[in-house]
Amino acid sequence: MHSTFERGRPMYPSKEDIKTTFTEAYENGLEFTKDGAVADYIPELSKADPNAFGIYMMSGDGDSISIGDTETRFTIQSISKVINLAISLKYRGFRDTFSHVMMEPSGDAFNSILKLDTRSNLPFNPMINAGAIQTVSLLADDFSFEEMLGFARDFCIDPDITLDEDVYRSESKTGDRNRAISYLLKSKDVLQSDPERTIDLYFKMCSLSVTAKSLAGLGIIIANSGMNPFNGKHLIAPDYVRTIRSIMFTCGMYDFSGEYGVRVGVPSKSGVGGGLCCAAKGPNVKEGHPVPMGIGLYGPALDQFGNSIASVKAMEHISHRLRMHVFDYRPFD
Ligand code: GLU
Repeated sequence: MHSTFERGRPMYPSKEDIKTTFTEAYENGLEFTKDGAVADYIPELSKADPNAFGIYMMSGDGDSISIGDTETRFTIQSISKVINLAISLKYRGFRDTFSHVMMEPSGDAFNSILKLDTRSNLPFNPMINAGAIQTVSLLADDFSFEEMLGFARDFCIDPDITLDEDVYRSESKTGDRNRAISYLLKSKDVLQSDPERTIDLYFKMCSLSVTAKSLAGLGIIIANSGMNPFNGKHLIAPDYVRTIRSIMFTCGMYDFSGEYGVRVGVPSKSGVGGGLCCAAKGPNVKEGHPVPMGIGLYGPALDQFGNSIASVKAMEHISHRLRMHVFDYRPFD
């Protein structure tokens, strides 16, 4: 595959090049949906259509691209961990947040309890369940679910996000492992709120119903260093966003984060509902700055790591073709 646009074309990809790239990525990704499987450990999630796939791109200069299933609502699941971390950084600050949860990739499954009990009292990072539960415990005494929902709507630029009651009930009924993590953290005297209150808020945040477009919204806020480019509202300070992007990069894709970092190289977070949120330095530059790009994808057929199989393939194509890998230092020629 070529890695640059043809000679004689503009230095940066045109809108048409970008649109072609996304269309190709969609077609490539779609081929893979049949090789994945929808999550069923939360029974309600098994109802998703394994063939569904959609990509939504939102660019800081107002452009957007929508292909496939971008209006379908599904639950945000682990991508809410990014929002929980953002709220903790914003209201409790960097030091306080990271005195309760570490910032190391764990190399274990998202719901693992192993290292938490044997190697460390603090969860490894805010993107695994233990770390997210711990982060939620930092917020559970100060914010109601309605307030957290309000933050999620702002961060995703989507006022229509609601709680998916069916998924929430399904997860709450079957989420014994997460409940165990909450109590284990309490037994170690590190959990910062009541374990039942904490786990209930954690389940509710996982059960927010979003679209690929809402995830593109979250992606663009993060890519744009915390400012909503459409109304100029600053949601969180740029230094905190740099931290969030770093943690998404190192820990956002379960125990595929390392390989995804090499192959795609864009700060991203996936969820078992089939969502993927990517915060990219866009391929174009305006007034000397990259134009930020948020990409939201939805494909509920998951690979062995729990990532949306079609979405990962599509992001590989997009990042390669548009040179969006954060460590790609070559200029367009
Ligand atoms: N609610 C899910 C759980 O805690 C989130 C998992 C995920 O998306 O990684 O099991």
